[in-house]
Amino acid sequence: MKKIVVAIDGHSSCGKSTMAKSLASYAGYKYVDTGAMYRAVALAATKAGLLDTQEIDLQKLENLLPTLNIDFTVTPQGQHTTLNAEDVESQIRTLQIGSAASRVSAIPFVREQLVSLQQAMGRAKGIVMDGRDIGTVVFPDAELKVFVTATPEVRAQRRYDELQAKGTPMPYDDVLRDVLDRDYRDTHRDVSPLRQASDALLLDNSNLTREQQSSLLQSWFDAKVK
Ligand code: C5P
Repeated sequence: MKKIVVAIDGHSSCGKSTMAKSLASYAGYKYVDTGAMYRAVALAATKAGLLDTQEIDLQKLENLLPTLNIDFTVTPQGQHTTLNAEDVESQIRTLQIGSAASRVSAIPFVREQLVSLQQAMGRAKGIVMDGRDIGTVVFPDAELKVFVTATPEVRAQRRYDELQAKGTPMPYDDVLRDVLDRDYRDTHRDVSPLRQASDALLLDNSNLTREQQSSLLQSWFDAKVK
């Protein structure tokens, strides 16, 4: 069976990572969460105090980037992100770091560096990568491209439930505002704005169960590799 590249893009909080992970395990492929890579940069920039002000000190951020080694490691709890060999999985999953990631990801040199790292990770194929620009910029020749979405209200409810389950609840209205703000920033930025590639299959999962969406994705995958 031939090995392919699967590019999964879409809005924030639409369950892309869950889908991508489950497809990677079905296919026996490597899984790369590119959002986690932008979050790791955001975490490092936050810790360095570079995001405290409205204007980011670009020179300092540019100097910081080469000192960051972003990678993934498999733990009994699943795949975790590491930053300079430290497991930062729980630190990068906050709403604050999600918003910070959306800020740093609009900076062209941050994208250039992470995109070339991502392209190197996928060179051997046999990979499922999720993000915002995988089918449009990182792997424009990916054999299977999927664009995932759901209504903002459905996504906010899912994120609200997730935060509550983690013991870090936030008011629903704040979560919805964050979802809408991130959508706006992701789709209106100058560099690599979020958009559906012309050859991507659209998956609106507002009314689908996880099982329904997994089997749909697996059928698209099977059709491409067989
Ligand atoms: O997917 P996740 O919510 O973890 O991504 C965090 C942020 O990183 C997104 O809001 C988006 O701004 C940015 N991102 C990006 N390009 C990617 C993946 C994520 O700009 N390929």
